[in-house]
Amino acid sequence: MERTLVILKPGTLQRGLVGEVISRFEKRGLKLVAMKMKQLDQPILDEHYAHLKDKPFFQWLCDGMMAAPVILCCWEGFEAVRVVRAMAGSTNARNAAPGTIRGDYSLSAQENIVHTSDSVENAKIELDRFFSPEDYCDYPSPLNASLYAPDEK
Ligand code: UDP
Ligand code: MG
Repeated sequence: MERTLVILKPGTLQRGLVGEVISRFEKRGLKLVAMKMKQLDQPILDEHYAHLKDKPFFQWLCDGMMAAPVILCCWEGFEAVRVVRAMAGSTNARNAAPGTIRGDYSLSAQENIVHTSDSVENAKIELDRFFSPEDYCDYPSPLNASLYAPDEK
C-alpha cells in the first residue's frame, strides 16, 4: 500500500473544516496511519516549498502556512498518492472541479485547504520531513476485504 502526506493548511483549521476534510479521506476508504498538529516555521517551509522559492508569491505562501498550526496526516491505500491528489483538485481552487476538496471549500490559488504529495517519490521525501518512524501506528485493517480486490495492495 502507498502512503501519502496531506497537510491541512492553517486556513482549514481556522475555518473549522478539519473534521470535514479528514472525513472525506476516511469515507473514501483511506487509512489514517499518522497524524499531528504542528506550527510550521520558515526553515521547514523553505525546504517543503523549495520548488517555488523564486515565485513572487513565495513569502505570501509561507506566511499563510505559518498563520496558525497545520494538521499533518499520512494516509495509506492502494495508489493513495494519485487518489488523494485527485481528491484535492486543481491548485487554483477557482479552477478546481466541484466535488474536489478545493473545489468545494475554497476560492484561492494560495488558500486552498490542503497540501497533497504529487508523486510516490515526493511522498516519501515529504513524509520523512514531517514524521519520524515512531509516529506511524500499525493497526488492523478488517475492512480491507470490503475495500479492495486481493491484487489491490
Ligand atoms: N500557490 C500559490 N499561487 C500559485 C501557485 C501555488 O499561492 O500560483 C501555492 C498554493 O498554496 C499551492 C502551493 O503554493 O498549494 C504549492 O504549489 P504547487 O504548485 O506545489 O501546488 P499543489 O501541489 O499544492 O497543488
Ligand atoms: Mg505541490
